Amino acid sequence: MSPDPFSRAEVRVDLDHLRHNLALLAGRAAASGAATMAVVKADAYGHGAVPVARAALEAGATWLGTCSLAEALTLRAAGIQASMLAWLDPADTDFTPAIEAGVDLGLSNAGELERAADAARRAGGRARVHLKIDTGLSRNGCPPHDWPALVKAAADDSAVEVVAIWSHLACADEPGHPSIDMQASRFEQAYEVTREAGLEPMRHLANSAATLTRPDLHFDLVRVGIAMYGLNPVPQPEDLRPVMTFRSSVVSTKRIAAGESVSYGLTWTADTDTTLALVPVGYADGVPRTLSGRLDVWLDGKRRPVVGRVCMDQIVVDCGDHQPEPGAEVVLFGTGEAGAPTAREWADKIGTIDYEIVTGMYRPRVVRSYAGQR
Ligand SMILES: *Cc1c(COP(=O)(O)O)cnc(C)c1O
Repeated sequence: MSPDPFSRAEVRVDLDHLRHNLALLAGRAAASGAATMAVVKADAYGHGAVPVARAALEAGATWLGTCSLAEALTLRAAGIQASMLAWLDPADTDFTPAIEAGVDLGLSNAGELERAADAARRAGGRARVHLKIDTGLSRNGCPPHDWPALVKAAADDSAVEVVAIWSHLACADEPGHPSIDMQASRFEQAYEVTREAGLEPMRHLANSAATLTRPDLHFDLVRVGIAMYGLNPVPQPEDLRPVMTFRSSVVSTKRIAAGESVSYGLTWTADTDTTLALVPVGYADGVPRTLSGRLDVWLDGKRRPVVGRVCMDQIVVDCGDHQPEPGAEVVLFGTGEAGAPTAREWADKIGTIDYEIVTGMYRPRVVRSYAGQR
């Protein structure tokens, strides 16, 4: 399939792959009696929050998770009715819209609880809250020494409904890491405190990696992000299908003689006569310039090297004696089928994680299109 003629740079999101991945994860969760939250923060890791949320709900998710309240309200504005949790906003955020829109709030301290309760009293409803215990990640979450007071304040406030307690794992992508059991045991202790306060909240702890490797930590709900997007966070193989393909097309080709060099700085020189294909994507479209000299693309059924520096708007592919047609599809990363490049490969080469690669593809000049939309 060729991109639309105007899609110079295109992120293609395959919702059938997303449904496949979500169904696999929700199946694992259901086997231990847990429901599944699809995490669609950061515009669904660069894949588009509304279409991804809808596809995830079609495939078995019953919850949606966002970072900010604004992200959750965008989903509500699109008509999505599912249970929703938003967990991180600035210290002066007015929670009234959350009460009005029925968005649950992830809270970590007394100040946040007070703001949620105040908003509930103003809006004439109850704030549905998920109290977060810090079990060792030391980001947000309530430290254990403040936990009993937070739980008591929540239990005593009639404007607040404690829906859940929850936490987040630091090393779930390293199965067997001792911190996982340590965090799980602190989580159990935090749960005991809520029980002693007369509450019986849901519990959720697992991200994608723990959903795949630790069924004993699924509790009532798992929160899956990266694996739903088809990128495997754990060492063992899983039947996950990458959802995002980044592609462009050949604009033009030319023949150069041995000894001619390519792109700024003339860092690459042809050692034989060769055919170059010009592809109109560059670092403004999400191709890291640090991949210069180490990047391959998939073009006409083969991996071919990008030669010379990655520019703002263009890259040059060495095609040897092959002559691609203008308009031929060029895949920068995607499903990896037949050995084509993947987001993971980019991440490994530049020293980051595939999360950052796909999330970084949300750019004004990159067109997003969907396959498998119902
Ligand atoms: C992002 C996030 C997740 C999802 O993590 P993955 O590793 O992508 O599955 C789960 N829980 C919280 C609190 C998060 O911020």
